[in-house]
Amino acid sequence: MLDLGMKGFITNLKRNSLDDGPGIRTVIFFKGCPLSCIWCQNPECIQLKQEISYSPEDCLACYDCVEICPEDAINFSLNFPLVIEKCTYCGKCISQCKTKALKFVGTLYTVKELLETILIDKPFFENSNGGITLSGGEATYQMPFLHSFLKQVKSNNIHVCLETCGLFNKEIFFERILPFIDLIYFDLKIFDEKLHMKYCGISNKKIFENFTALLESKSVEILPRIPLIPKITVNDKNLNQWANYLENLGIKKIELLPYNPLWHPKVYSIGKTLQYTYSKWLDVHEKEKIKKIFSAFEFRDI
Ligand code: SF4
Ligand code: SF4
Repeated sequence: MLDLGMKGFITNLKRNSLDDGPGIRTVIFFKGCPLSCIWCQNPECIQLKQEISYSPEDCLACYDCVEICPEDAINFSLNFPLVIEKCTYCGKCISQCKTKALKFVGTLYTVKELLETILIDKPFFENSNGGITLSGGEATYQMPFLHSFLKQVKSNNIHVCLETCGLFNKEIFFERILPFIDLIYFDLKIFDEKLHMKYCGISNKKIFENFTALLESKSVEILPRIPLIPKITVNDKNLNQWANYLENLGIKKIELLPYNPLWHPKVYSIGKTLQYTYSKWLDVHEKEKIKKIFSAFEFRDI
């Protein structure tokens, strides 16, 4: 794992979001996640390490990058021109590329830099009961930075929403992160442990433990969120298991997150192989079936 010092590794910031919590929000995408879901729509956020992206649409084929690379790590006869094993991430090719076809993925921020960046939007938060949303990747994967950042955010009286995969160190989270959070979107993906390991790369045991511990603590509003991934999370067995489980816990309100197939090019831009190729939106028939399974709950229409 990359040594970040006391900096946060942030992939992207999305301002003026209306979909990631109440009011107008600035969404901060953290780099790095303990899960590796094969359908991840932000594949550039999975690894907590330096990566370089390449956009063929922006490339002039000038080969200035090839000339300047001291490691001979760029080869345009490959599908993705960067030879990762040779690259030292010196950034010379990126500085040389006039069209920004080559870019570092993500930026390191100090607490002060990230705070100043989000404070620009404070008037929008105040006028809409909005705030910031911590997304990713998984924000809690950078716990020391997150703790310091949230202390400053809260001293500026800003509403904080966390979107989490649910896999984090419970003790540290409860002590250092939870006191600064106002709302949690807690992702529940695959009920069956073996299938969770197959598609998300890791057991879901700790996720269940963290979810129930948070509910029992009654310290913050929690909205369970189920991503609707065709043929993986969307099957009668999995959805009914979640519906029964949540009903037994007395949950009344959930979020259903429809699949968006437009993420595929992001995988190629960082030189990865697509593991989940499904490329259609959910159709009306599928949506109606899903809504019926969760008819006992309140949720935003899908
Ligand atoms: S320097 Fe940029 S534009 Fe030129 S070949 Fe390399 S990636 Fe393409
Ligand atoms: S970052 Fe440096 S080593 Fe890597 S491809 Fe670019 S110039 Fe070569």
